[in-house]
Amino acid sequence: MFSMDSEENENRRLLRELLKTPGNACCADCSAPGPEWASFTLGVFICQSCSGIHRNIPQISRVKSVILDPWEKSEVELMASIGNSTAKVKYQQMVPAFYYIPTHTDCQLLREQWIRAKYERNEFINVERQEPYSAGYREGFLWKRGRDNGQFMSRKFILSEREGAMKYFNKHDAREPKALMKIQTINATFQPAKIGHPYGLQITYLKDNSTRNIFVYHEEGKEIIDWFNAIRAARFHYLQVAFPGASDTELVPKLTRNYFKEGYMEKTGPKQTEGFKKRWFTLDDRRLMYFKDPLDAYARGEVFIGSKENGYTVVPCLPQSTQGYHWQSGITIVTPDRKFLFACETEEVQKEWIAVFQSVINRPMLPQEYAVEAHFKHKP
Ligand SMILES: [Zn+2]
Repeated sequence: MFSMDSEENENRRLLRELLKTPGNACCADCSAPGPEWASFTLGVFICQSCSGIHRNIPQISRVKSVILDPWEKSEVELMASIGNSTAKVKYQQMVPAFYYIPTHTDCQLLREQWIRAKYERNEFINVERQEPYSAGYREGFLWKRGRDNGQFMSRKFILSEREGAMKYFNKHDAREPKALMKIQTINATFQPAKIGHPYGLQITYLKDNSTRNIFVYHEEGKEIIDWFNAIRAARFHYLQVAFPGASDTELVPKLTRNYFKEGYMEKTGPKQTEGFKKRWFTLDDRRLMYFKDPLDAYARGEVFIGSKENGYTVVPCLPQSTQGYHWQSGITIVTPDRKFLFACETEEVQKEWIAVFQSVINRPMLPQEYAVEAHFKHKP
């Protein structure tokens, strides 16, 4: 007969064996490799970060460390009978193609609401619970940052797939929307740090081919995630019509995108005789935009970054004659038309920017990107 101690060791050994099976090699919720925690009520192996989220839903999930905590035989048997692959079949049986499935690099809100959607709200078992983001129409109030005073005000938003647009209204009874954001060009990305709210969402769209930003949040995590997935659903259905025959795997990466990089650099003007000014830069795919303030509604300017085949290069220094910069680590972007000069505060920041510029330049241009480039060339 086992003593208590050796039974505990045996349980631990069995758990380690379970972790070696392919389905349990990654966190059931965020896919981080090597999970060392488990929910012994749901039967899934999860990473430490997701275990913290599970801990906040004790009515659904109870968690233990595979390494540190004592385990009962019955709990180990439950883990063996379920595991990540079986749980996925159950809890993710009807995840819509457009629905954003977070990874371990995503913000806390995306990961928490994914976990709650799966296990607490059973959204992917009961398809009618997906109505808030899959109906093709959504309206409600969001807190929107005012362009001029920076104050967040409650604004009515309507997303309509039929109209191909999302709009918002300045007064609750206003007939004319303050802005009409076409689904064709809309993007949404969570920016909690920049917006200063854990549920802060940045929505961008193109107006006359220039980028416009709005910053919103909702005090309920579920609500802002539903808006985010409603935007993704609308984009998905728009792209299915625009690119008939394209597979879901081709369309899904185009629904929303995160920025390649953001941060401060100094820049000078086209004559390169003006002093350098500190600006906030956002690299959104091939568009390098700069702002006076990170939360500005409009970019002060945008630079298109093409590919090396089309005459774009990036150099980790400034031309010798350059003057007027304060930060010492220079970057020159050469386009077919002109040179753009930037200065970074540290060598480390300079290296990060060079790496992202280089990856964009190394990627051949797509047919539709030539049209965007042509637009930039004809700007005054
Ligand atoms: Zn995880």
